[in-house]
Amino acid sequence: MNLHCDLHSHSTVSDGTLTPTELILRAFEKDVEVFALTDHDATEGLKEAAVAADKVGLHFIPGIELSVTWSHQTIHIVGLGINPDDEVLNKGLKKLREFRNRRGEEIAQKLEKAGFDNPFEGAKKFANGEILSRTHFARYIVEQGRAKDIRQVFKRFLVRGKPGFVAGKWASLEDALSWIQGAGGIAVIAHPARYNLSATRLRQLISDFKEHGGIGFEAVSGSHSPDEELRMAQLANQFELFVSKGSDFHSPENIYRELGALQDIPAGSIPLWHSDAWKERIGFK
Ligand code: AMP
Ligand code: MN
Ligand code: MN
Ligand code: MN
Repeated sequence: MNLHCDLHSHSTVSDGTLTPTELILRAFEKDVEVFALTDHDATEGLKEAAVAADKVGLHFIPGIELSVTWSHQTIHIVGLGINPDDEVLNKGLKKLREFRNRRGEEIAQKLEKAGFDNPFEGAKKFANGEILSRTHFARYIVEQGRAKDIRQVFKRFLVRGKPGFVAGKWASLEDALSWIQGAGGIAVIAHPARYNLSATRLRQLISDFKEHGGIGFEAVSGSHSPDEELRMAQLANQFELFVSKGSDFHSPENIYRELGALQDIPAGSIPLWHSDAWKERIGFK
């Protein structure tokens, strides 16, 4: 029933601090058996990770975490078992990157007004991969001594109502699901308790997600408390969604939870790896 897996993680290709190879080696050391790399809006790390995983004998799942705007809110959808060469997916990713780049410039202009010196270049120094993330602005702001850690930066500068906030204009939920499923993958709502949605809105999100063919729900997440995990698992049961688990690991210095250090799927929930889609699209468990 339980599987020592970690189905949500980030490398230097997006806003993590370990390269895909370093991440695989760390997952292997932590006894993870099935591991997915799910960089934000980027697939560039997947080939390197697959090679590294092969060398140590770790089951590797190519994944992604797509940024979605749903009902004026940013939501993250994880795709597992995707083909990184899929054309439609790559076209979609190109559009997301274009928005990301424009948004990065806007964030930088706003931060300049808040007294930062050349924040665009400052953030870019931390982004050695494919995308420019708010996390990179956050690392720059910590470096400048204007906040004590990344969490503080988000609170003071980068969320709605704060000086460096720019509203997201990401993919629609429908597009994100069609890109993932078209690329052979399984769609999962990432860290559902993190969006501060009311119970009604969260139910609405799940309905819309299911309507477009989504089946997975990341009830067990490195960013959930044990209580949130139980509540989210109950919700998954009500909506007949399969439960996924992922640490959302970004960096050894700044962890919600260590790679693979996750609870079992709560009793009464059905793990994602028991779904037919998993058997057809991913296979090993
Ligand atoms: P972006 O996709 O560029 O808007 O950046 C989103 C990323 O910022 C998330 O994937 C997290 O890694 C990070 N993040 C968002 N909110 C917080 C927070 N409150 N504290 C720390 N990191 C956060
Ligand atoms: Mn991130
Ligand atoms: Mn996320
Ligand atoms: Mn993530």
